Amino acid sequence: MMGFDSRAVHAGRTDLSGLGVHVPPIDLSSTYPLPDIEAGGDSYENMANGHPLQEGHSAVYQRLWNPTVARFEEAVAALEGAQAAVAFASGMAALSATLLSAVAAGKPHVVAVRPLYGGSDHILATGLLGTRVTYTTADGVASAIEADTGLVIAETPANPTLDLIDLRALVAQAGDVPVVVDNTFATPVLQRPIELGVSIVLHSVTKFMAGHGDVLGGVVATSEDLAVRIRPIRAITGGNMHPLSAYLAHRGLQTLPVRVRAQQDSAQVIATWLAQHTDVERVYYPGVEGGDPLGLVGTQMQGPGAVLAIDLGSYERASQVATSVRLFTHAVSLGGVDSLIQHPAALTHRPVSAEAKPGQGVLRLSIGLEGAADLIADLEQALGSDHVGKQVPAAGKQDAAAGRQDAESADLPAHAVSV
Ligand SMILES: *Cc1c(COP(=O)(O)O)cnc(C)c1O
Repeated sequence: MMGFDSRAVHAGRTDLSGLGVHVPPIDLSSTYPLPDIEAGGDSYENMANGHPLQEGHSAVYQRLWNPTVARFEEAVAALEGAQAAVAFASGMAALSATLLSAVAAGKPHVVAVRPLYGGSDHILATGLLGTRVTYTTADGVASAIEADTGLVIAETPANPTLDLIDLRALVAQAGDVPVVVDNTFATPVLQRPIELGVSIVLHSVTKFMAGHGDVLGGVVATSEDLAVRIRPIRAITGGNMHPLSAYLAHRGLQTLPVRVRAQQDSAQVIATWLAQHTDVERVYYPGVEGGDPLGLVGTQMQGPGAVLAIDLGSYERASQVATSVRLFTHAVSLGGVDSLIQHPAALTHRPVSAEAKPGQGVLRLSIGLEGAADLIADLEQALGSDHVGKQVPAAGKQDAAAGRQDAESADLPAHAVSV
């Protein structure tokens, strides 16, 4: 088999030379011609049961199959070392279909290791899709499993505080229950959970995979047996990835290894600098002291990644820094070529219940491809004491802090949206 970087460039492209083209064609057909009623019906039945399109058969309808999306899926499977991948309209659509596949199999109980991305935590906490959750720590998984546990779910590194989980130990604890790992932060460049016994790898394609801030997408990489259970749910609920998104995400995969490594190099430099900064109370990053207590970087993970978080001690300080940056963009999301900074407690993790919510002084930073020196200079000026009292007047500061407390204690409805 080709090495990882070569697969990133070439996977999902094997049919191109036969088509006489060099880049994947974008097939936007919503429907496909049927040779006759019976053949069309057979193909429909085959795909509705979760099987891939058979060669020479009609794809019938885009919600069942699309060749541009299928090429992206083939590439993701090749990079994660999985038999199959199923792409979705977003990471949350991918998670929803995965959860519904457990509900459909009559095993609606989910054991979830916190911390998780705010939206994932929230969809489980509300039970919106008919699941029932037990939150636990990585070493509490075995004792949390019940007769109807359909999935164990975890993130490593976790959003937003970069907690790491030993995946081999997690898989051992889960026993026969399929383990889902959200690999959005690590990407297959740094960590391939399937090789460690994990059953389903989930990605928000929106982040590193697509990598340029212009795609919303999700994907799961898994065995063909589990893919057969997940594809019908996508076909029924319609959370499909759009072919244009699939094209862009597939192109993004070609540069994924170089982007992730370059962004990681800068993140390491920036995290080290921040760890020495007197205004920063704590740096959350597997590449700084204390950030990898289990020694997983260099073994389970090939590197600490390109996302980090800092604790500035207070909401007002975090607010001041988030609004003072000039080269970073103050925005949610992560994993793109440009650097972003955001306040998880107020935004990405807003609907998470108080006991699992990140601190009010925490900011999450996604490091892009700008020069590390320029990013440090930007953080330096944003952290600089000359901003104190300038961005937020003294009276306003207190209002802002009080406002936060109100928002925090407010009960969010089951349909609250996480970004
Ligand atoms: C963003 C994110 C998601 C959700 O993905 P969307 O594409 O926004 O739906 C899930 N997990 C993690 C770790 C994320 O960062």
